[in-house]
Amino acid sequence: MKYLLVIAVVAIFYLYLKKQRTPLRPPPKAGPPLAPPQPMLACAHCGLHLPARDALVDAAGQPYCSEAHRRAGARSDS
Ligand SMILES: [Zn+2]
Repeated sequence: MKYLLVIAVVAIFYLYLKKQRTPLRPPPKAGPPLAPPQPMLACAHCGLHLPARDALVDAAGQPYCSEAHRRAGARSDS
């Protein structure tokens, strides 16, 4: 009967150690998925690059960074 108690204590201790060691941490999860890249457009007046969704487009389809540059129109460098 004495040995049974010793075996039980050893078994409990063994299971305790096994439980301590077992929890292998899963690989760290990646953060939230990144937003897809935004297409960038250059302002037709000043050349500033800005996301396509923030660009102001005139009737000719030219992108502009601001209303003032849209009114000023495309720069003519020639
Ligand atoms: Zn501009």
